[in-house]
Amino acid sequence: MGGFSYRNHELFCEEVKIQEIAEDIGTPFYLYNYDIIVGNYQRFIEAFKEFSPLICYAYKANSNLAICKVLASKGCGADIFSGGELFKARKAGVPPDKIVFNGNGKTRQEIEYALEENILMFNVDQRDELLLLNELAKKKEKVARISVRVNPQIDPKTHPYVATGLANSKFGLSFHQAEEVYRLATELKNIHILGIHTHIGSQITKTGPYLETLKMLNEIISRLEKTGIEIRYLNLGGGFGIAYREETVPSPQEFATMLSPYINRDYRLILEPGRAIVGNAGILVTKVLYVKNTPSKTFIVVDCAMNDLIRPALYNSFHRILPVNNKGSEKDKTFLVDIVGPICEDGDFLGKDRRLPALRPGDLLAILDTGAYGYAMSSNYNLRLRVSEVMVIKDRYYTIRESETYEDLIAKEIIPEEME
Ligand SMILES: *Cc1c(COP(=O)(O)O)cnc(C)c1O
Repeated sequence: MGGFSYRNHELFCEEVKIQEIAEDIGTPFYLYNYDIIVGNYQRFIEAFKEFSPLICYAYKANSNLAICKVLASKGCGADIFSGGELFKARKAGVPPDKIVFNGNGKTRQEIEYALEENILMFNVDQRDELLLLNELAKKKEKVARISVRVNPQIDPKTHPYVATGLANSKFGLSFHQAEEVYRLATELKNIHILGIHTHIGSQITKTGPYLETLKMLNEIISRLEKTGIEIRYLNLGGGFGIAYREETVPSPQEFATMLSPYINRDYRLILEPGRAIVGNAGILVTKVLYVKNTPSKTFIVVDCAMNDLIRPALYNSFHRILPVNNKGSEKDKTFLVDIVGPICEDGDFLGKDRRLPALRPGDLLAILDTGAYGYAMSSNYNLRLRVSEVMVIKDRYYTIRESETYEDLIAKEIIPEEME
């Protein structure tokens, strides 16, 4: 649990006692550990250093500006999926030549914005996008650099919602179609082919699917090169899994050791990790509101809910949940409980059938490994206010986002005049 540890039964993040943050700012809140974020990034750089990798952090995992700035300041690039993420990346100080634009539904406006910013490349998802890109680049008298996203049709053995490399996925092109798009690209004056891209899914905990993918990419690259198409960037995407259940998952070094023999040193390597950079750096701190005993179960009702962390409800995903004060867990006095939120749906749970010490209203819980796809997927459902975020840097904590207010809930809403 690097970076989060108990001292005398109290949970700390580095030198900061989590209970004290909660007393200062109230609950619930997301808390991120600076050292873990930086360490995770540096492990990727180190592991793949012989390929001078460009790590493009996937902004969708967590785009808090402070987190983006930390990564940008260490030299990390950005994998963006929207104009909003491009805006964030530039605000965070990511230079344009470290930004790659992914996605299957880039709008005209987003493409124009990215062309104006001179980003490194567009990962093209299909033929019509390529034609639009060429048209818009021509209008702006620019050349758009591209990769084509290929779909290797490999099963990454992960949750079906996040397996994006299967034959029936909406993303990418089959090898055959990709070759046609590459050929078309050679004929378009305002398009410059830079590389090849793939992304096979998320929370992948085996090296095998990457190895298979890489071998297939090598095949298509050699076919392309035979027809005079030069590939300079090899982008293997993200998807590197983390240990939600303390299972063993390959480290960046293990991925690198496995993949290195198959990576051509003539190419610049791009990786797009999101979860593996921020996932284990974050926790969601919440307070027990009520304990409810029913004949069949004990429910711990907490002050965060599925609108704050939707992964359990959406993917049935597992997050470890720990008491912030662990005094009660001495000996074997634990109880089987469900941890649930206050939202009006039975799907609103954070954890089911967990062993926790006796809890009372006011006790704090930490929901672990919530740095990725936690806040980023939060909403105002039930008109709950989105929570604050803090970052711990060694012995201090900093608020990096204030919680919303009721006024925020109506800030963009307009009542038609005649109703006034
Ligand atoms: C979601 C996504 C990523 C990041 O995925 P993680 O599982 O968070 O590493 C990278 N690239 C693309 C194209 C994606 O869609």
